[in-house]
Amino acid sequence: MADPAECSIKVMCRFRPLNAAEVDRGDRYIPKFQAEETVVIGGKPYVFDRVFQSNTTQEQVYNACAQRIVKDVLEGYNGTIFAYGQTSSGKTHTMEGNLHDTDCMGIIPRIVQDIFNYIYSMDENLEFHIKVISNLVSLSGSFCLSIYLPMCVRECVCAHTGLCGCTERFVCSPEEVMDTIDEGKSNRHVAVTNMNEHSSRSHSIFLINVKQENTQTEQKLSGKLYLVDLAGSEKVSKTGAEGAVLDEAKNINKSLSSLGNVISALAEGSTYVPYRDSKMTRILQDSLGGNCRTTIVICCSPSSYNETHTHTHTITWLE
Ligand code: ADP
Ligand code: MG
Repeated sequence: MADPAECSIKVMCRFRPLNAAEVDRGDRYIPKFQAEETVVIGGKPYVFDRVFQSNTTQEQVYNACAQRIVKDVLEGYNGTIFAYGQTSSGKTHTMEGNLHDTDCMGIIPRIVQDIFNYIYSMDENLEFHIKVISNLVSLSGSFCLSIYLPMCVRECVCAHTGLCGCTERFVCSPEEVMDTIDEGKSNRHVAVTNMNEHSSRSHSIFLINVKQENTQTEQKLSGKLYLVDLAGSEKVSKTGAEGAVLDEAKNINKSLSSLGNVISALAEGSTYVPYRDSKMTRILQDSLGGNCRTTIVICCSPSSYNETHTHTHTITWLE
């Protein structure tokens, strides 16, 4: 159960390995690690709740960042997990990874698996309604997936994809949920011409809502979990942009800075938390602060080439 005495916001920092292009260019590997909490960059130590070195496995990251939050959500609390960092720093690798590979799956598929395992371990008087919605913020090309697990048809799950005009199907396993997520993503590919460009400029928000009812005692529990793959932390350029593109750029810059302000206010225990300053923090308001559990994974490039950005935007985001 959520322990009010325990700080509910954890900030963790993950470094990916140098990639082939960085190695070919002769970039240096800049972070130096001290114990599990400290990373030194350019001689300066930065302390987090936890630092993940480049060889940390997806499972280790899941255990440290998400396992506890999932447990709380199944007990009726709300929570949020964010990945923050510049484009190509490992945010999507951390949140999604490879949806179909047991070793390489990221946080989202592991959560889906854990929730299925939990449901099948529970007694038959519990009725579950699980709803998964993807991309609440960027409406273009969003899709939603709802899973219903009524007691009588526990072995079957009903999923909808598409925000409106949903198609509907039954899925019976975590793998089939992943397939449905994949399909939703390829639909978005069709909707958005330059997907890589688009995804780095927009937030991807995934919501899992778990409702449980004990049919004998009528006791109900509801918990929700937001999983957010944030837009790249590099400031979106406003030069040359106009109309809708300029508005989108302004919105992303604003939502990242207002999210940083909200997290800092919560971490400092301020009485005023500026939730209403952006659309994203308004959406997340009931899953941030209070007795909600929040983890932020700051994703970093280890390359000397990105050192300035890592210093000025990434590792110091919440300072
Ligand atoms: P972002 O979403 O922040 O733009 P990605 O998650 O797409 O970045 O990562 C960029 C590339 O680096 C991908 O090819 C990804 O597989 C790889 N990568 C990221 N983090 C790691 C890691 N911890 N270990 C191995 N490869 C990684
Ligand atoms: Mg990404």
